[in-house]
Amino acid sequence: MNVVLNEVAPQTEGAQSFLKTPAKNMLINGEWVEAQSGERLDSKDPATGAVNGTIPKGAKADVDAAVKAARDSFESGVWRNMTPDDRGRLLWKVSELVEANIDELAELETLDQGKPLFIGRWAEIPGAAQQFRYFAGMTSKIEGQTITSSINYQPEGKRMHAYTLKEPIGVVGAITPWNSPLVLEAMKIAPCLAAGCSMILKPAEATSLTAIRLGELIMEAGLPPGVFNVITGLGPEAGQALAEHMDVDKIAFTGSTATGKKIIDAAKGNMKKVALELGGKSPSVVMADAEMELAIPGAANAIFFNGGQVCVAGSRLYVEKKAFDNVVAGIADIAKSMQMGHGLDPATQIGPMVSKIQADRVKGFIDGGVSDGAEIVTGGEQLGDNGTFISPTVIANTRQDMAVVQEEIFGPVVVAAPIDSMDDVPAIANGSRYGLAASVWTQDISKATRLAADIKAGTVWINCHLMFDASLPIGGYKESGWSRDSGQQAVENYLETKTVCAVV
Ligand code: ADP
Repeated sequence: MNVVLNEVAPQTEGAQSFLKTPAKNMLINGEWVEAQSGERLDSKDPATGAVNGTIPKGAKADVDAAVKAARDSFESGVWRNMTPDDRGRLLWKVSELVEANIDELAELETLDQGKPLFIGRWAEIPGAAQQFRYFAGMTSKIEGQTITSSINYQPEGKRMHAYTLKEPIGVVGAITPWNSPLVLEAMKIAPCLAAGCSMILKPAEATSLTAIRLGELIMEAGLPPGVFNVITGLGPEAGQALAEHMDVDKIAFTGSTATGKKIIDAAKGNMKKVALELGGKSPSVVMADAEMELAIPGAANAIFFNGGQVCVAGSRLYVEKKAFDNVVAGIADIAKSMQMGHGLDPATQIGPMVSKIQADRVKGFIDGGVSDGAEIVTGGEQLGDNGTFISPTVIANTRQDMAVVQEEIFGPVVVAAPIDSMDDVPAIANGSRYGLAASVWTQDISKATRLAADIKAGTVWINCHLMFDASLPIGGYKESGWSRDSGQQAVENYLETKTVCAVV
């Protein structure tokens, strides 16, 4: 398989002009500032290794300044006491600005992350805009309850009156990953701001450009300074400082399970609340009665979309024995036909991994699987001048205990194994420390609904995979995380419940 690296350049005036000022800054209290140390990090195009620009290497002192700005804006009430209607109007304006700049944001995401342009343009950036639209409507639906208690020891002649208030939790730090930067950031920012919190976003160091551009759009929408801040920098430095900060009330994190565990440790100091959307090793289960015209391309897309750099990627394929050869051959044919190249090239179906480090890691898992006795059906190569491309890979002859079957690879690598019948599915699908998502492909509604009930995962798709919407909660069982993003209850992640109990 070849990588076709044609000459490409961003087409939108917006992306061209954004890149004309290559030294980007961070947003603290409405101002664009450098790191106090003056240090910077390169922001690279993963397909070519070219430097797109530089971002501040923010560290503890910068995090302190951003937390202070967020705290001051929170305590001033400028945002949390704004009427829900006005807060919603501003969030709606953010969604409009994201949509107005959709082509530019998609190009910036591709240059920074590597993904094929169509993914940003048609899925992720519209998804980010939708998060702001959806949660703009939630600002006016934050409601406590009145409660009739059974208390009967109040003073003679008095009555009880009890109710709950929903209050914004305070200052929130959001730490986000590099695979689908803007949409995953929006999944934190939109409900957090809707709840009335002030916040600091720490995007992934490899992919901070669209977070910076979003900061510009949020300021353009008219949010008060200090309500939304962006700190760029390394995870173990800026991210860790944010997670440890004694004046941060909550960390909302999306990323690997290993880093999630570090966040839990870092949060202990002031017992800040923690929401975690972590890794997965999600099964795609194809029964022999599935509609194969849907199932084969669907299961292929479940793992090859965005080069498999998707937390809910369908990275374990289980197929009923009599359909196994047909399904695996169909997915391998799709893998072989996929064009690898620069994400800005319209012919590209699969871009580079986000970095050489990530590509090396993926290749390491593939090679490890082969030494453990697995067999490569197709793919398995590391390609490109700077070694960032991994050809779409199908691996068979696996055992459940192999690392390639158990570990999250975060690349275009699917492991395939046959199953005898649907009775095998719960044990095999649940035989993982993760429980983020799964898909079941069958035309038998009772098989589908029984498996959806038996699989321990935060999302089960039936005859589809990777269907996302701001209205659909997403998050994991087991080591895939705590709590859910998206859906109405996501606002609850950013609210405290206060009980008010009165003798009247
Ligand atoms: P990966 O390991 O796949 O690069 P991570 O889960 O480490 O992904 O990254 C997700 C986010 O977590 C990024 O913004 C990264 O900078 C941040 N991060 C990494 N390490 C830490 C840490 N020790 N504390 C806080 N944040 C971190």
